[in-house]
Amino acid sequence: MINPYEFIKTKKAGKNHESGEIRNFINSYLKNEIEDSQLSAWLMAVCFNGMSDFELKEYVNVIINSGNQLNFSHLNGFIVDKHSTGGVGDKVSLIVGPILAACNCYVPMIVGRSLAHTGGTLDKLESIKGYKGEISTNQFKKNVEKNRISIIGQNNEICPADKHIYSVRDVTATIESFPLICASIISKKKAEGINALILDIKVGNGAFMKTLKEAQQLGKALTKLGNSLSIDSKYIISDMNEPLGISSGLWCEVQESIMFLKNNKRDPKLNEITFKICSIALAMAGEKNPNKLIEEAISSGKAYEIFEKMVKSHNGNLKDSYNENNYKYEYVVKANKSGYINKIDTEKLGYILLEIGGGRKTSKDKIDSSCGSYIYKKLNQYVEKNEPIIKIFGSNINKIQQVEKMAENVIFIDDFKKNKETILIYE
Ligand code: URA
Repeated sequence: MINPYEFIKTKKAGKNHESGEIRNFINSYLKNEIEDSQLSAWLMAVCFNGMSDFELKEYVNVIINSGNQLNFSHLNGFIVDKHSTGGVGDKVSLIVGPILAACNCYVPMIVGRSLAHTGGTLDKLESIKGYKGEISTNQFKKNVEKNRISIIGQNNEICPADKHIYSVRDVTATIESFPLICASIISKKKAEGINALILDIKVGNGAFMKTLKEAQQLGKALTKLGNSLSIDSKYIISDMNEPLGISSGLWCEVQESIMFLKNNKRDPKLNEITFKICSIALAMAGEKNPNKLIEEAISSGKAYEIFEKMVKSHNGNLKDSYNENNYKYEYVVKANKSGYINKIDTEKLGYILLEIGGGRKTSKDKIDSSCGSYIYKKLNQYVEKNEPIIKIFGSNINKIQQVEKMAENVIFIDDFKKNKETILIYE
């Protein structure tokens, strides 16, 4: 039996726990023998004093073992997933997943909901009429076997310890801790039964990581933990100083992803990140000419076909989603002068989307899946006075009106170009 008081004191003093102690503490918490207040005190001590590699391994294992682990070793194919640390307009998972599946990989993908100013893949998918993102592990497995891809949210069978701990972290200011973040993300990836993982670490004013140094530290910590659990893990660092692609929101991002997968319209930066992530994954799978395979997957229509099949398997109806998501109100921001766009406050744009119904401030908040934004001009581009630069839209007029002033302060224009060429992928 663990003594929670002594256990918390050990971490508070910056000392390491002995083998088995973290396991006992978390398992006791799951049996209601430890209170939320005690868990949160320990989590706060971890925020200040970190964890040793040994402690982190024990912590991640107890989370993994709290639920089911999938096993796809009977399938003849590479099992791979990608994960983004979150941004604005980041619809890459919706595009990369079906492309990798079309390139003969299997993609069991567990995704999250919108968090703070960043969008969540699950909320985006649920803007598709009928899409069920919360399904049993058994159904998830069957969908992956049938369509090569399934995208779901975390359920009670996958890392339930993480679900409970995350809800405590969320309200006790203990999200921001590298070991806690790493264990939370990697435990769910391990439970997916994947061979390989590509992490897209976002950096910039619309990301959680504001500096390259922080992004590198997180990338290294995540891949180190992934590799220690036998998941072949690699990371890239990509820019989030402007939204990715033209749309940010819910259904509008699904629509942009569909356009991409149908090869109708491929935003150049979205294309570049997609190719980067897919080519790393396919090279890990042993492919010699990944770019050719990726291009074929898109141009042949196979990637889109797989996306459509996946949506159907999740009860989704794409045809009816267009009408369902017709937004009613819009506010167009025009350039207040002629000049060059030198700054886009991407985080502010993310918070605008949250305000108009793109995310939840409390668990009871209702999502407006029609809401979002289109950006017409990006960093370093020249605009004429009064040219439209951003459009904010949704179905709740009060909410749209409330963000008008904020929206006027997202894009900053100067007479001269201040930045050098923008970088999309730092490493
Ligand atoms: N996403 C997760 O799943 N967990 C974290 O701790 C942070 C982001």
